[in-house]
Amino acid sequence: MTRLEGRVALVTGGSRGIGAAICRRLAAEGAVVAVNYAGSADAAAAVVDDIVSAGGAAAAFQADVSDARACDALIATVVERYGRLDILVNNAGINRDGLLVRMSDDDWNAVIGTDLSGAFYLTRAAAKLMMKARSGSIVNVASVIGLVGNAGQANYAAAKAGLIGMTKSVARELASRGVRANAVAPGFITTDMTDALPEAARDAALATIAARRFGSPDDIAACVAFLASDDASYITGQTVAVDGGMTFA
Ligand code: NAP
Repeated sequence: MTRLEGRVALVTGGSRGIGAAICRRLAAEGAVVAVNYAGSADAAAAVVDDIVSAGGAAAAFQADVSDARACDALIATVVERYGRLDILVNNAGINRDGLLVRMSDDDWNAVIGTDLSGAFYLTRAAAKLMMKARSGSIVNVASVIGLVGNAGQANYAAAKAGLIGMTKSVARELASRGVRANAVAPGFITTDMTDALPEAARDAALATIAARRFGSPDDIAACVAFLASDDASYITGQTVAVDGGMTFA
């Protein structure tokens, strides 16, 4: 499939899990992929190697998305290297779970800083270029937790609900300039993030999934590739839950 041929994509948190699958998928569909990572240089290099061995084009770019200046520099570096930016996938995310009354300021601020502010800093910088080009697609990786909440995840739920709200505002603001913004809300996807959960929490989550299986990073990557492509050219401001039937009303 080559529906992303000629496009340049930046994927944050592309070194592992869902982000790595998104990088591979966008590259397989023809995009040149900038693989962002925070600390996992080797893992990011491995994603780049996989893409290049499969005949695609990619390079790794270190930046901490919770740092506004680093985000501006990341966008500038990618554009300097490739001359354009067509697709931004705000995927980088962390969780610092804990019950509300015991949640520290640090745990609140770290999750908001990475999962929400990071997407804001990058979207702000990318939007300037995309509006000028009168084209672009921004895909934010939120979470079903941003839709329904979860005990022990007040920080994460607030960040992801905020990301969904930001997506809608950005979509309204930029639609007339040819720029779309959508969100994907993954359910329970098998990655390092969910591998860290206790067995009981995994079992409890499985019981709520109509499909009776956890999702894979490729399930999310397929939806992101669609939203990033012209196949979704009349879709903006939407949040697509990719959750095996965990949350539909
Ligand atoms: P993961 O396996 O823990 O990977 C997280 C990725 O984010 C890594 O590539 C990491 O880079 C990067 N990252 C973390 N902090 C960063 C920062 N400050 N700056 C730049 N990159 C940073 O997580 P995942 O499960 O793939 O999750 C990816 C996204 O999907 C997150 O936004 C998460 O909230 C969302 N999500 C996941 C699930 C799930 O079930 N797994 C469900 C709903 C939503 P390094 O490797 O360099 O640390």
